[in-house]
Amino acid sequence: MTSWVLPVFLVLFAIQYAVETGLLLLNLRHVARARGVPGPLSGRVDEATAERSRAYTLANGRFALAHGAFSTALTLAILLSGVLPALDAGLAAAGLMGAHRFAAFLVALSLAFSAAALPFALFHTFVLEARFGFNRTTLRLWLVDRLKALAIQAALGVPLLYATYGFMRFTGALWWVWLFAFYVAIQLVLLWLYPSIIAPIFNRFQPLPDGPLRARVEALAREAGFAHRGLYVMDASRRSGHSNAYFTGIFRPRIVLFDTLVEKMSVDEAASVLAHEIGHYRAHHVQRRLALSAAGTLVLLFALSRLVPWPPLYAAFGFEGPSLHAALALVSLGGGAFVFWLSPLAARLSRRHEYEADRYAVRLAGAPEALETALVRLNGENLSNLHPHPWYSAWHYSHPVLVERLAAIERAAAAERQAASPAAG
Ligand SMILES: [Zn+2]
Repeated sequence: MTSWVLPVFLVLFAIQYAVETGLLLLNLRHVARARGVPGPLSGRVDEATAERSRAYTLANGRFALAHGAFSTALTLAILLSGVLPALDAGLAAAGLMGAHRFAAFLVALSLAFSAAALPFALFHTFVLEARFGFNRTTLRLWLVDRLKALAIQAALGVPLLYATYGFMRFTGALWWVWLFAFYVAIQLVLLWLYPSIIAPIFNRFQPLPDGPLRARVEALAREAGFAHRGLYVMDASRRSGHSNAYFTGIFRPRIVLFDTLVEKMSVDEAASVLAHEIGHYRAHHVQRRLALSAAGTLVLLFALSRLVPWPPLYAAFGFEGPSLHAALALVSLGGGAFVFWLSPLAARLSRRHEYEADRYAVRLAGAPEALETALVRLNGENLSNLHPHPWYSAWHYSHPVLVERLAAIERAAAAERQAASPAAG
């Protein structure tokens, strides 16, 4: 039987690569032609920042083109060269069977991909980010970070692989449901452990010192009825000049501010950024996103459960017969060609959440101007693209384009004013 599996996969893979590269090229051409500051931002962003953003976007885009071409070539080479069946045969010859062969096969594959990605990661941090003044890490710290991450992956990942094998092999036809329940439980435990155990392995967290910012944020949290597990400052500046704030946890999160953000923003600006984050929790975006990703995992596991006993899958990629580890490897290497089409939907949902959180922040903090200047400042400090191609941003952007976002904040502020004084309206 001549199988259609490989040709269909190759066509889908090629379409994905063409769409991804086409969007990137379109965006690069758009940015290369753009000049100066977009109209609505004039007076808020200076020419020098606009020019630096442009250069940074172009440099990052070219890097993404090279990286994309390399990863695509690598994935195809691994899938088509017969190296996977050869690895499997080698492990069998070494006497590894069952769970050990399953784990060794997948660990070897993941190590190979990590090693191949190393030169790109080095170049990104020490050449590209350094050229624009963002990089603050040293080669030593960078290596220590990598080794720590590898140790954590080994400590968590290897037992997880053995558990996965156990569920797939021994829990009957509905193994994918059991495995799903197990993964959800593990994810909840990790979310719970992350702030207190995993994050401190990489960064130092100190309580936000008493002062106007702390007083302001605590007042906001009280007003919003928002329970949190403390306010912390993280020493992000050890590694990079990018600034940000984030919350970790599901129901009572820790609020974490990058030290870079605390240093550079006014109290009103930092408070409005945190009011925005509180908005994500109050509107249950975080919980909804977790539920959505769990649903995605369930669908993937179901698909995997149908593929495991399907001989044409193995034949197409040179395996002699079905095996759990081959199925898992093929699905994780080839699955991207399918999952890729969901990214514009995910980005769109995320942008809707950002608009909602902005509206909430305007209502809670009552300082729309500070939220706007904070966003302009973040945009400038991170040298975010001021001129994205509309198709590129629609497909990839998890946050609205700055100009549109500021316009929406102004509309929300106007609506608030009107609601506050109906008689005058
Ligand atoms: Zn947000």
